[in-house]
Amino acid sequence: MTARLIDGKAVAAALRADVARRVAAAGLSPGLAVVLIGDDPASAVYVRTKDKAAREAGIGARTIRLPTDTAQADLLRRIAALNADPAVDGILVQLPLPQGIDPAAVIAAIDPAKDVDGFHPLNVGALADGRPRLVPCTPLGVMKLLEAAGISPRGARAVVVGRSSIVGRPMAALLLTADATVTIAHSRTRDLPAECRRADILVAAVGRPEMIVGDWVQPGATVIDVGINRLADGRLVGDTAFSSCAAVAGAITPVPGGVGPMTVACLLENTLTAALARRG
Ligand code: NDP
Repeated sequence: MTARLIDGKAVAAALRADVARRVAAAGLSPGLAVVLIGDDPASAVYVRTKDKAAREAGIGARTIRLPTDTAQADLLRRIAALNADPAVDGILVQLPLPQGIDPAAVIAAIDPAKDVDGFHPLNVGALADGRPRLVPCTPLGVMKLLEAAGISPRGARAVVVGRSSIVGRPMAALLLTADATVTIAHSRTRDLPAECRRADILVAAVGRPEMIVGDWVQPGATVIDVGINRLADGRLVGDTAFSSCAAVAGAITPVPGGVGPMTVACLLENTLTAALARRG
């Protein structure tokens, strides 16, 4: 391996400690409400992790558990109550939602000032317009990893593989706002390896285990692997083939221990940002 390892665990721990310090220094007790509908086991694990991390940072976390057969109208009423509750600074509805509930309607119902996932159309629009407010946690975490590793996007050629609303698109918008020259690749991209080889900063957010291999990486490039894939043998791998990419890249994030821990840390920061903004 020649690449420098970007240690997301360490950067996330530092960010969480920083949020805890800033919460204490401001004399705040921000409130985060997490809404979990149904019994998806992965979602339950994510929600527990968020709850624990929030409490450790001095953020009052509350999980609202609703049954799988919750009607959309009931959910929207719950969200309206959280919007109106002055003790709640951040609202997060854990995705995916059960069949029959329209995620777009649910996200649009959240007060944009409390939208700590950054998925509300107003926050999406602000980011697309280069005026980020509350920004999706995973791509925000990637930007913080780059900063911590001393890798500047300014003037760099960045390629983001994946165009989902929660990762690829906001990732590209953040890189563009940070003055990178950005390409977004996806399943219809012609000659994906050639596109990837042009990247100084290559972000993989595809959801396909170890799809991106070392031969697709420009020597010395920074490789950020957002992917989290569980293999049949239980191993957790990213969207890049780690050892072959690490042999070519200049810097790389591991899976696990790269982007993953940053997502929760950025949720805490977004909750603090929302709490400070709401208090003027
Ligand atoms: P989605 O499935 O929503 O999006 C995947 C994207 O990859 C799509 O835009 C799709 O293209 C593109 N894609 C799929 N196959 C190919 C291919 N063969 N070649 C090129 N592009 C392709 O996934 P998410 O964005 O939600 O997640 C991506 C990965 O990141 C997953 O592994 C997920 O587990 C992980 N993740 C990690 C997080 C973290 O905290 N670290 C948080 C969120 C996600 P098209 O649009 O054309 O279909």
